[in-house]
Parts: sequence; structure tokens; C-alpha cells
Amino acid sequence: MLHTTAYATLGLDASYEVHDVLPSQLAARVAELRASGMKQLAVSLPHKHAALDLADKASEASRAIGAANTLTEVDGLILADNTDWIGVTRMLELLGSWKDKTALVIGAGGAARAVVYATRQLGMRVGVVNRTRSRAERLASDLGAALGSLEDPYDLLVNATTVGMQPDIDATPVPAEMLRPEATICDAVYRPLETRLLREARARGCRTQDGLDWLVLQAVEQIRLWSGQSPDPAALRRAALAEVGG
Ligand code: NAP
Repeated sequence: MLHTTAYATLGLDASYEVHDVLPSQLAARVAELRASGMKQLAVSLPHKHAALDLADKASEASRAIGAANTLTEVDGLILADNTDWIGVTRMLELLGSWKDKTALVIGAGGAARAVVYATRQLGMRVGVVNRTRSRAERLASDLGAALGSLEDPYDLLVNATTVGMQPDIDATPVPAEMLRPEATICDAVYRPLETRLLREARARGCRTQDGLDWLVLQAVEQIRLWSGQSPDPAALRRAALAEVGG
């Protein structure tokens, strides 16, 4: 929906198709799509790691993060890119200046890796907390972060887990009493738009940010990479809000 809306408003002669692909079929499907003339692929869960392996070349960011959400064919080669971290970066830049501030990132999957990469690029000190500690340790050591704890002080807390996502909407990754009122709390989850985490954070006086701007801003970057044109993020957010029922 984001891509289709953007193509229409930019007047691009392009269409966006959705394909359900099993992990075991990914390489064959990508080869088929390329043979059919498709030059651009947006890659979603659970293929972002495997997509990197399918590429001939990868951007520094997608290599560091270990995941690609954007595959582009140029002169017969597949280039892998990651726009998730750019979406997070743009979202955070809209909220203020973060250099030398402290982030606590919850999660150790693809989204968390993109958040840690982005916050490190913004000059933040970053701690990582995850249900499976060994994955947090690996992420922290790969991307220059530290192992964190919910008791650590932070200026920014980002939930990059699936906790709180529909249908599990009564779950929260952080007990309300552990949320720091002076901090900014961001959620990667955008269904529902206001998760329990964000609702409780708002009640404690925290500044909050839902996951929809991140989603929109990573799509804006993907469309810019492919077309050289940038759609208006505010218009895309309005269209996306109608879709997620916000
Ligand atoms: P993923 O690779 O599957 O990682 C899931 C993470 O959630 C892991 O750290 C996992 O911990 C943790 N987790 C899952 N269930 C949990 C539970 N019951 N309690 C505690 N931790 C739990 O997924 P992902 O790609 O990183 O995506 C994570 C979320 O970010 C999803 O909701 C996705 O939609 C969202 N996302 C949003 C955007 C956006 O544009 N807004 C972009 C990317 C992703 P373990 O390591 O212990 O399994």
C-alpha cells in the first residue's frame, strides 16, 4: 500500500506485487522474478538474512546489520541494501539530537540490529537487552554496543521485539514502573499503533513514538533508491494510518 500510494503520487509507471515465498523456495523465486524482468525486490520477514546471501554485492550497512530488505539488479548483478536502519535514523532525527545520549534497545533480531546500527551511527551509547541473552551478547559485540539491563539509565528506549504486536496486545516488554518519565520510548510495532508499552509510557509522562513513521521512512528510502524520487512521508503516513486503523 505504501509503495502503490507513492508510485501514484509521484506519477511513476511502476507497480508493486506481493509474493508469498517459503524459505526453501527463496533462491528459485528470486531467479524466476529476475528472469521475468523484475529489477527491484523488497524483502520482508523471514528472508532478510538469506537475501544478503543471494546478493552479488552488499552495502556496508546491510553487511554490518547482517540483513537486507532491498535487492536491486544493476547491470546483471544483485545489490543488497538495508533501509530499515535509515528509517530508524530519520525517525530519531525528527525527534531531536542524540549524540552522546544513551539508548536501550530491547531485542536481538533483524529490527534490533538495525536500531543498534542506527543509534551507534548517531553517536549514542547503546545497551542491548534480549530474552535470549546469547543473541544480545552477539549483537552487542558485532555492532559496538554493550549488554544492558532494564535498570540502566537511558534517554531512549526502543522495543525492537514482537512483544505487544497483534494479537498479543496485552503484552509489554517493560513493566510500566521501570519506564523513565524523562525518556523517549519508541516501539517498532505498528499494529496496534498504540501498544501497551506506549500507552503506559504516555501515562508516565514519557515522550512516545509509534512504529509507523519508521515503516514509512524506510519505504521512502527504498523508493528513493529505486526511482531517484522521494515521496512525501506525511502523505504516506496518512495513507498507512487508514490501513492500520489508527
Ligand atoms: P525477529 O528477528 O523475529 O526478532 C524477534 C525478537 O523479539 C527477538 O529478539 C526475540 O527474542 C524477541 N521476542 C519474541 N517474542 C518474545 C517474547 N515473548 N518475550 C521477549 N522477547 C520476545 O523479528 P524482527 O524482524 O527483529 O522484528 C521485530 C519487530 O519489529 C516486529 O514486530 C516487526 O514487525 C517490527 N519491525 C518494524 C519495522 C518498522 O518499520 N516499524 C521494521 C522492522 C521490524 P529471542 O531472541 O529471545 O527469540
